[in-house]
Amino acid sequence: MPDDPGESFVLNTLLRDAGPGGASTLRVPPGDDAAILADGLVLTQDAFIEGVHWDERFSGADVGWRLAMANLSDLNAMGARGVWAMLSIAMPKPLDRSWVEGFSQGFSQALNQVPLIGGDTCSSPGPKALSATLGGRLVAAPILRSGASAGDEIWVSGQLGAAAGGYYGIASLLSAFLRPMPPLTLGPALAERALVTSGMDLSDGLSQDLHRLCAASGVSAQIDPTSLPLPAALMDRSDPVADAVGFGEDFELLFTARPQDNVAVRTLGESLGVSLSCIGHIQAGSGPPTLGQRAWPVGWSHFGTEAPC
Ligand SMILES: [Mg+2]
Repeated sequence: MPDDPGESFVLNTLLRDAGPGGASTLRVPPGDDAAILADGLVLTQDAFIEGVHWDERFSGADVGWRLAMANLSDLNAMGARGVWAMLSIAMPKPLDRSWVEGFSQGFSQALNQVPLIGGDTCSSPGPKALSATLGGRLVAAPILRSGASAGDEIWVSGQLGAAAGGYYGIASLLSAFLRPMPPLTLGPALAERALVTSGMDLSDGLSQDLHRLCAASGVSAQIDPTSLPLPAALMDRSDPVADAVGFGEDFELLFTARPQDNVAVRTLGESLGVSLSCIGHIQAGSGPPTLGQRAWPVGWSHFGTEAPC
C-alpha cells in the first residue's frame, strides 16, 4: 500500500523547496522514524491535534502520555534512548487549567525523567494543538528501515490490534488505546547486540508500515496471518486480523533479524519481559508484501485520498 498521496505531496513539496542542504547534516538520508544528525543526535517530532488524534475518551493526562509515547516509540525504533524533550502547546480560550495540569502529569510520567527543556505556548482559535520534539542518543549502530534482506525473519513485539479493540469499544483494551506502552527497552537492546537488520515502530499498522519497510529495503515479505499475536478480546470482532494490521496506534516494534539469531532474539525478549512473535520472512525482489491469501486492509489516511493497493 502506498503512502497517503496527500501526506506525500506535503512532504515532497517541503523537501523539494528545502533543497539538498539538509543532507549534509544527516548521518542517513530522510525516511526513517527519526533523523540522525552527523554527531549522532536522534531527533523526532509528532503533532497531536484534538479531534484528529484524540477524542472525548482521552483525559488530559491520557493525551500527554500518548504524545510522549509516540515520540519515545520513534526513538526506540531507531535503537535510541530519549535525552530531552521540547513541547509546543496551543490551547483555546478560556484556558482549561485542570486539563493542562492533567496533560502535564501524563506527559512527564511517560517521559520518565527525560527532561523538558523548552518549547512554546499560544492560544488556538479552534482545537487544542500540540507538538513535541524529542532528542535521543544511539547506543550502537542505528536501526534503519533499509537493512532487511531475503531470508530475514520478521518479528513484532507485544500484541497487534489492542489499540484498535480499545477504539472500537472493547472495554478490556481501552487502556491500550489511551495509554500505549511501547517496549522502550527493546530497540536499544536489539541495537546493542546487533541482532536486528531493520526495524521501525508500528504507528500506522502493519499494513502500511511493512510496505514502507519493504520499500526502504528493496525487498518483499510474506506474513502468515495465523501467526499474528492478537489479543484474545479482539476475537469477538468480525475481522480481528484486519483490525490488527490496519488500524495502527499499537506502537509495537516491527523488526527483521537473521534466522540464525532466532534463539538470541527470543532469549532477549524473555530477559526484557517483552513478548516477541515471528510473523513471517523477507523475500528477495521488490514488491508488496503478502498476508497469506488475504488482501491488506486500507489504512488510515490524513487527507482521505489513499487508494487501496
Ligand atoms: Mg514511527
